[in-house]
Amino acid sequence: MVWLLMEDYWTRTVVSVKAQVSPEVYNLWIRSLRPGKNLADGRMEVLCHNDFAADYVDKHYRTLLESAMAVEKGTHQPLFFRADPGVKSGIVGRHSNESEVSEEPPPSLPEAEVIQSPAVSGLMERYTFDLFVVGACNQFAHAAASRVADGPPVVYNPLYMHGGTGLGKTHLLHAIGHKVLKDNPKAKVRYISSEKFMTLFIDHTRMGRVNDFKSQFRSVDLLLVDDIHFFAGKKGTQEEFFHTFNALYGDGKQIILTSDSLPQDMPLDERLRSRFAQGLVVDIHPPDLETRVAILKKKALAEDIDLEDDVAFFLADAIQTNVRELEGALIRVFALASIEKAPITMALVKESLRNILKNPERRVIPIDEIQRTVATFYKIAPMDLRSNKRSREFSYPRQIAMYLCKKLTNHSYPEIGEQFGGRDHTTVLYAVGRVNERQSEDSILAKQLQSLTEMLSH
Ligand code: ADP
Ligand code: MG
Repeated sequence: MVWLLMEDYWTRTVVSVKAQVSPEVYNLWIRSLRPGKNLADGRMEVLCHNDFAADYVDKHYRTLLESAMAVEKGTHQPLFFRADPGVKSGIVGRHSNESEVSEEPPPSLPEAEVIQSPAVSGLMERYTFDLFVVGACNQFAHAAASRVADGPPVVYNPLYMHGGTGLGKTHLLHAIGHKVLKDNPKAKVRYISSEKFMTLFIDHTRMGRVNDFKSQFRSVDLLLVDDIHFFAGKKGTQEEFFHTFNALYGDGKQIILTSDSLPQDMPLDERLRSRFAQGLVVDIHPPDLETRVAILKKKALAEDIDLEDDVAFFLADAIQTNVRELEGALIRVFALASIEKAPITMALVKESLRNILKNPERRVIPIDEIQRTVATFYKIAPMDLRSNKRSREFSYPRQIAMYLCKKLTNHSYPEIGEQFGGRDHTTVLYAVGRVNERQSEDSILAKQLQSLTEMLSH
């Protein structure tokens, strides 16, 4: 076994996070972070170049960094960010467009270092059609996305792509944006996550600048809105989005949406739901083995790294859930090869995946994956778990899903409640207690919990 120092864990964590954020975010916020001391309260210090960076990274990237580090170390350790004069800023020259950054230019940076944003499109560079692998799982979504990217006449509006986490929805969304901009650099393309849409809307409302908000969205030619399941239960934002949607739709502008559920399964205002369903609805499934191998090969090629067939098949077989995890595993392999300055052999791959392969219970399981698995198991929609529906058909699986979140993840009660339609932490506490009690009396439930745990920990 290779003994890894904190420095090495940190390097691996940073490499893994690099795969999950845009190059701009990586260069600006992540690359310059340095590991500090382990504190008496169990947290690990992370040193940043100034106070603003410490606050910003804490607010936006703490969870991402903590879960990436948990994967590397096999245990969860909270991080504490603080400024240290010895740390250099990660900024080098100009940075291109990334919505999250360009919308919030860091006020404390010297002028020359402020990010330029030529077109505030928010597109991520590497999410192009060229780098997207087509398989049976995503053929239909890819064909529809390509058609829409070819531009007018508008045939499907909106295009609505839905599927599980890490299956390429965001990638396709960005790919459409890139293609449209390539064909017509003057086109006004805007990518935005639903969460960002909501916070922007709230901020503008607070500042009494709702009209600015309206005009920035209503003047675009192509609007790409990611993860609209986030709008569930958020009435004011839904209302605003409905107006934005209608304005663009009425002007014949293309709208593309992604979600984890079908329109009919989303607890949304009926008007919005019927708007979503009136276009083309396409789904994306998890990739089969051949597609997973093709994805690994393409990623390796893009990094200019040799990946033998046996290694690619081994990895593709070991990680079947989603492409993001597959990519994460490949990045870990690359990282270990570079730390050890060794070629990528089967032995090295097995070593780098030790945590995932031998200690399945240590895999970081996202809450939405637990929700999807439990929902499928009990034949309801993931949305139902986050909804207010109170009948037993929904409340029972909801309690089970909450229980599994507590058991299989490091999330706190309030964090779990938040992911279940913004419920209070006492509801989660109650659910965990109930399921614990019941399983000792109910052998069918105990079996179901065991199967669910196995499905989630493979
Ligand atoms: P989602 O939005 O569905 O959760 P993403 O689009 O963020 O998933 O995809 C997760 C990661 O997997 C991204 O880095 C993306 O580039 C990659 N990915 C997903 N599907 C494919 C594919 N078919 N070909 C290449 N890369 C893919
Ligand atoms: Mg996404």
